[in-house]
Amino acid sequence: MNGAPRAAAPGGGPRSAALYAEACGLMPGGVNSPVRAYRAVGGTPPFLVRGEGARVWDADGREYLDYLGSWGPLIAGHAHPAVVAAVTETAAAGSSFGAPTPLEVEMARAVAAAVPSIDMLRFVSSGTEAVMAALRLARAATGRRSIVKFDGCYHGHADALLVKAGSGMMTLAHASPGARAQPGAALPSSAGVPDEVAAWTRVVPFNDADAVRAVFRAGGEIAAVIVEPVAGNMGVVPPAPGFLETVQDLCRAAGAVLVFDEVITGFRIARGGAQGRYGLKPDLTCLGKVIGGGFPVGAYGGRRDLMQMIAPLGPVYQAGTLSGNPVAMRAGLETLRLLDDAAYRRLDELGAALADGLAGAARRSSVPLVVNRVGSMLTPFFTAGPVTDAASAQRADVDGYARFFHGLLARGVMVPPSQFEAWFVSLAHTAGDVRRTVDAAAAALAR
Ligand SMILES: *Cc1c(COP(=O)(O)O)cnc(C)c1O
Repeated sequence: MNGAPRAAAPGGGPRSAALYAEACGLMPGGVNSPVRAYRAVGGTPPFLVRGEGARVWDADGREYLDYLGSWGPLIAGHAHPAVVAAVTETAAAGSSFGAPTPLEVEMARAVAAAVPSIDMLRFVSSGTEAVMAALRLARAATGRRSIVKFDGCYHGHADALLVKAGSGMMTLAHASPGARAQPGAALPSSAGVPDEVAAWTRVVPFNDADAVRAVFRAGGEIAAVIVEPVAGNMGVVPPAPGFLETVQDLCRAAGAVLVFDEVITGFRIARGGAQGRYGLKPDLTCLGKVIGGGFPVGAYGGRRDLMQMIAPLGPVYQAGTLSGNPVAMRAGLETLRLLDDAAYRRLDELGAALADGLAGAARRSSVPLVVNRVGSMLTPFFTAGPVTDAASAQRADVDGYARFFHGLLARGVMVPPSQFEAWFVSLAHTAGDVRRTVDAAAAALAR
């Protein structure tokens, strides 16, 4: 495949198709992040030109109700007036200095206040960067090399973490001919990752506390366990009761650093993220997505004694030209300001209404569907069984999802172009939007 759009494929209109054709000659797959290319669902992606609230418009003038939310950041919806006004004001006062700014202090204070396990933090420009730095820190602090991750969790594209990763890697493994995995079959790691690097990464099934116990029992100098406390990159998979607690206990007992990758869940499922919701205390936390309010931001933080190992205080080097960028800090601050208790109640209600509506529509059409949801993140899996880990997620009928996806897109509803991603509800969605979505889903599922 050379990335050329398939003829007469569904998806974007003629202008989007023309843009996509040109894009394919200029950027690999025509995109700057793989899943955007619609490989898993077929067809060609609409090129978006505008967003407002819960809606987006494409280059052909088509309007969609949006549940991508830019893959998580847009908890306030597109172009929220308060966010737009704030970033406009900040940009007009200079967009980057390479020197400390008051906004970084304000933002750090806001994050540390909301997430009690974070004594100190450092802002970076992406979730990938946050995770890379957190693991470097964990290795430096423990003097050990191995890290444990969970099958189907995605932690950005750093070498050590492209081992049985979720998100785009899980999606592409399904989309490539011949790679339709048997349940539990190994997914390919990325080319270009040296075996020597991948060898330091142990992979265990999500929600399998015994497997984590076994890894620790086998010894092998584990520096860190990194986990998405609510998995979002194999589709949404909540933690089984007690699972995260056990992982936390095992880390404590072994002197390993527990890293919560809350790049999706931070400020998404509660102000305090998953750790706030479930009452846990990781040593380090990675953030991104929501805290940037739609701008490029990541952060890592946690125990003071660990964070004091970061340069210039300590020997662990990490730096960034645009880290703590004022415009991004301001977008994040304005977004966090909108997230009070009432906001989370509303997000939860809307999420529940959407999940229940999708499940009901599937029942009426006799389509096996499991809807996993935590707050405003959810995934309808085209399978009858419970989805508790990557193996059960991979039992989903991805062709069924692709048909559903295009059924929704044709009816003006944009959801993630992969079975293995989270749908996001925002504060801009209304009960009426959710009803419209459920009607569209019912029509898309009807046979
Ligand atoms: C998106 C994501 C990342 C990577 O963040 P980028 O900003 O895309 O680099 C890391 N971890 C999780 C859990 C994510 O969902």
